[in-house]
Amino acid sequence: MSTSLAEQNAIVTGGSRGIGQATCLALARQGATVIAAARNIERTQTWVRAAGADVAGRILPVALDVSRPEQVNNFVEEMAAKYEHLDILVNNAGITRDGLLMSMEDEQFEAVLTTNLRAAFWMTRAVSRHMLRARHGRIINISSVSGLMGNPGQANYCAAKAGVIGLTKSIAKELAKRGITCNAVAPGFIETEMTRDLPEKLKEQARSLIAMQRFGQPEEVAAMVAFLASPASSYITGQVFVVDGGMYM
Ligand code: NAP
Repeated sequence: MSTSLAEQNAIVTGGSRGIGQATCLALARQGATVIAAARNIERTQTWVRAAGADVAGRILPVALDVSRPEQVNNFVEEMAAKYEHLDILVNNAGITRDGLLMSMEDEQFEAVLTTNLRAAFWMTRAVSRHMLRARHGRIINISSVSGLMGNPGQANYCAAKAGVIGLTKSIAKELAKRGITCNAVAPGFIETEMTRDLPEKLKEQARSLIAMQRFGQPEEVAAMVAFLASPASSYITGQVFVVDGGMYM
């Protein structure tokens, strides 16, 4: 079955770097037109310019703060007017604000819940209106193995990423009859700016839990997202795909 995304329009949040950047590239290489949304539009523009003419022409950097619901709604309406149909949504934007439970501030908990979970809800509600009209759509939410396993020092992040899985399954059940699938991808330890500055000791501990004994690359997550966005995944919905080199089994 085809993995071509020709004629398809995709929105990827958190497209300025890391897994989001790799996802934008993977979708564009399969023929999609990709709207790469993040707060730092200059950063997105820089990597898009460097990506090569064949794909760069199909990636549009847009400034968006997903933690602001009014911005999310305006953005989706603008994109729907510009592109006519919105076929693929990847809710990838995410942050961490780690800390032990006893010292975790409300603001720290809320910020992580808002960017990782509430924003996925706001974005999906706005985009799915357009997908419902077209009776076609692919929604892919980036969760984490942390949402399946829990992690000390990450009560906020793990709660948000577990919430993303519940959101995914509910959306899948609501929208399946209307031609829209919704799946989650749960990466393990991936080498991006999110993990770059973690203490070496913690990295070594994490590596020892991975069957493949190495960290993942953003492209290895993007490949799964691109598959789930493609016609080849037509009979798959409500699932969580772990991409972690054999860490969580
Ligand atoms: P990253 O390199 O830190 O990238 C995070 C992306 O999210 C950036 O593009 C950032 O762009 C964007 N973002 C953050 N807050 C935003 C906001 N309010 N509005 C719009 N965009 C926002 O991290 P990553 O590793 O690629 O993470 C991508 C996703 O994978 C996240 O959901 C993360 O939780 C998940 N994940 C990562 C790992 C890992 O090991 N790296 C493991 C499991 C899951 P701006 O700063 O420009 O806005």
